[in-house]
Amino acid sequence: MKNIIIISVLLFSVSCANPAQELKQTNSPKNVIFMIGDGMGIAQIQAAMIANGNTLNLDRMISTGFSKTSSASDGITDSAAGATAFSIGKKTYNKAIGVDKDTVAQKTVLEYAEEAGLSTGLVATSSITHATPASFIAHQPYRNMAEEIAADFLKTDIDVFIGGGKNYFVDRKDGEDLTLSLKSNGYQVIFEQSGLANITSGKLAALLAPDGMPPFSKGRGDMLAPSAMKAIELLNQNEKGFFLMIEGSQIDWGGHGNDIEYVVSELLDFDNTIGQVLDFAEKDGNTLVIITADHETGGLTILGDDILGDSTATNFSTDYHTSVMVPVYAKGPGEEAFVGTYENNLIFNKIMSALRIDSDN
Ligand code: MG
Ligand code: ZN
Repeated sequence: MKNIIIISVLLFSVSCANPAQELKQTNSPKNVIFMIGDGMGIAQIQAAMIANGNTLNLDRMISTGFSKTSSASDGITDSAAGATAFSIGKKTYNKAIGVDKDTVAQKTVLEYAEEAGLSTGLVATSSITHATPASFIAHQPYRNMAEEIAADFLKTDIDVFIGGGKNYFVDRKDGEDLTLSLKSNGYQVIFEQSGLANITSGKLAALLAPDGMPPFSKGRGDMLAPSAMKAIELLNQNEKGFFLMIEGSQIDWGGHGNDIEYVVSELLDFDNTIGQVLDFAEKDGNTLVIITADHETGGLTILGDDILGDSTATNFSTDYHTSVMVPVYAKGPGEEAFVGTYENNLIFNKIMSALRIDSDN
C-alpha cells in the first residue's frame, strides 16, 4: 500500500508539470450539452438499468454528484422552478419561468451563451413551451402561459429548437402565426420529423406535434436521439462553440401516472440519446456533457428484479414529485466541478464558469 501511494504522488507531480496548461485543457470546454431527465431519480435510473440487463449508457459517466432540489416556495419543487434554478442560478417559486422569486426576469444561461457568440439550442419530448425548455428562453410569471412563452422564442436569437407545441405558435388567441415571424427571422420551420434530414445548416424551428410529443411507446418512437444529434450537427458549425439543453421530458409523466413501463421506456429512450451524445462528445474532446434531473417523481422504490414483469418489484409512494436529492453526472473538460453535494441553482454557476462567462444575476 505504501508503494502505491508513492507512485501516485509521483504521477500527480508529473501530470501537474505545467499547471496553467493543465487547467486550461481540463476546465474549459468549447461546448456544453446539458441533459435533463425530468423526474429522473436514482430509482428510475436503476429500474431502467435492471430492465436493460443491468447496464445503461449513463454508466459511461465518471464524475457524479447530488443536487438538492427544493424551490424558493416549497420543499418539493415543480419543473418550472427546478429548470429556472438551472437557467438563472437562483431558486424561485414553483411555476416560475425564467424569473426570480419577485417575478423579475433574469438572463438565462442560454441567453448568456447566445450573447457570448455561442450557438444555442433546446430539444425536448414535451411541447417546446413546456416548463423545462421554456425556463431557458422565456420569462413569464407562470408556466401555463404557453402562448406568451412561445412569443418569447422570438425575443432571442436561439439557433435550433426541436419539440412539440406547434399549436402555441400557430393556433393562438391573438390570431398570429408565429412561424411566419420565425421564417422572416431566418428559421427553417418544419412540422414533421422526416424534414430533419433535409436541414444541414442554418437556424431551425421544428414543431413536431400540436402539444407534447406522444410517449415513446405510443407513436413517438425514435425522435429524441435523432433530434439531439441534428441539433448538435447544426450548432457545432459555430467555431466559438455551443450550449444545448436536451430534455427527456416524459420520465416525469410516467412517474405522475405511477406507470413503471412508461418510466422505463422513456428513461431508456433518454439513455439511448445519452449514448449518442457521449459518442459525439468523446470524439470531439472539447464538449462537457452534464446529465441531471429537476426532481424525482413518484417516490419510486425498487423491491425486486423483475421490473416490468412483477407488479410487486416496484412501488410508487406519490403521484407527485418528491424532495429527494437527484444525481448529477458530468463528463468532459470541467467535469470535476460537478462532484459533491450542492443546491440545484449552483449548476448554473458551474456551467457559466465552464464556459468562462461572467454572470450579473
Ligand atoms: Mg419537463
Ligand atoms: Zn412533474
